[in-house]
Amino acid sequence: MNAPEPAAVGAAAAAASSAAASSATRSMPHVMNTYGRLPFALSHGQGCHVWDTEGRRYLDALAGIAVNTLGHAHPKLVPALQDQVAKLIHTSNYYEIPLQEELAAKLCELSGLEAAFFCNSGLEANEGALKIARKFGHDKGIDRPEIIVYERAFHGRSIATLSATGNPKVQAGFGPLVEGFVRVPMNDLAAIEQVARHNPNVVAVFLETIQGEGGVNPARWEYLQSLRALCDRQDWLLMLDEVQCGIGRTGKWFAHQWAGIQPDVMPLAKGLGSGVPIGAIVVGPRAVNVLGPGNHGTTFGGNPLAMRAGVETLRIIEEDGLLAHAAKVGAVLCGALEDGLAAEIASGGVVQIRGAGLMIGIELARPCGVLVARAAAAGLLISVTADKVIRIVPPLILSAEQAREVAALLCPLVKDLLAEPLA
Ligand code: PLP
Repeated sequence: MNAPEPAAVGAAAAAASSAAASSATRSMPHVMNTYGRLPFALSHGQGCHVWDTEGRRYLDALAGIAVNTLGHAHPKLVPALQDQVAKLIHTSNYYEIPLQEELAAKLCELSGLEAAFFCNSGLEANEGALKIARKFGHDKGIDRPEIIVYERAFHGRSIATLSATGNPKVQAGFGPLVEGFVRVPMNDLAAIEQVARHNPNVVAVFLETIQGEGGVNPARWEYLQSLRALCDRQDWLLMLDEVQCGIGRTGKWFAHQWAGIQPDVMPLAKGLGSGVPIGAIVVGPRAVNVLGPGNHGTTFGGNPLAMRAGVETLRIIEEDGLLAHAAKVGAVLCGALEDGLAAEIASGGVVQIRGAGLMIGIELARPCGVLVARAAAAGLLISVTADKVIRIVPPLILSAEQAREVAALLCPLVKDLLAEPLA
């Protein structure tokens, strides 16, 4: 694989260099300069492979950032979407949309929750969740409701969701932030109990079951169980952002199911539509009647094309046994990474390999954004989050052989990087 070494490598370096680049020197001068992009374009995909416009092939261990659940050009999904496009793409929510009910019913069956609202993205699902929490508070007489959020969290880039996000880089330049958030560290029960004792305005706890952008940091299952009990005791809503870790990625439909608990509010997006934009807020009995007619809405949300994508994605995951598959192949991948990096784990260059199923983070002891471009040059698509964490979130259809190939491509790059002197 001979992809060129991009000028901009890794999120941080790329953002810095592209901010400096004038529009004349950029290859997409009429597109606003908000992303650090690698200098190639993908033209088509098949299964877990994608090809760029120069004909180079890549093994896709990123899946459009945990989006392409069924990989590319899935033989069952493509005809279903073609059928839907030919019938009806969009109608507005002025009318009943039977596919919305079908997808909502399936999400309720899989989660044990009661109803869903559909939107178009993760941040929209989270905005809706924040509105539910505030209204839940107002309905019980709390005029200035507050929501507990987490260090290193990522919930989106709208003003409210970036305010809930626990990353100063995401917030910088966009103040004043939305008020009404209290921040605590992940997996620290004493910290949240302290808030419970002193803050009567709290109405909800809002966290990613497994933090994605913050570095693949799982909430401990016992911690989630304690949170559930605390929320019950305090009459708070437990709101679990499963935008990245939901829809089978960890080997269960939803990551919190490993802890045997249910949230009151669960925002979803990313993998639910296998690449067709979609978002959903799924709610249980304590939240189901909080929003009423006129409280919330969207033009595009829940349109027939996105709903069909959701219905078919869930059906194919079920039919093809992809939950068990994701758990099994995730274990193969983790095992291959642990074997391939055994010396680096022993020396401390690799701090930890963590995650669940096919959501895996490899934390290094040094910044490693450069690996994104080096991996692409080697024919592998990955990302790096939180400066030091390699993130692997491939399609759920990744085979065991492909999992071993991911490790075989990646481990030498990690070894080489760790052998370099620190810049
Ligand atoms: N929540 C989580 C956990 C995410 O990982 C993301 C995106 O990475 C979002 C919310 C925001 O989703 P979107 O980019 O679709 O707005």
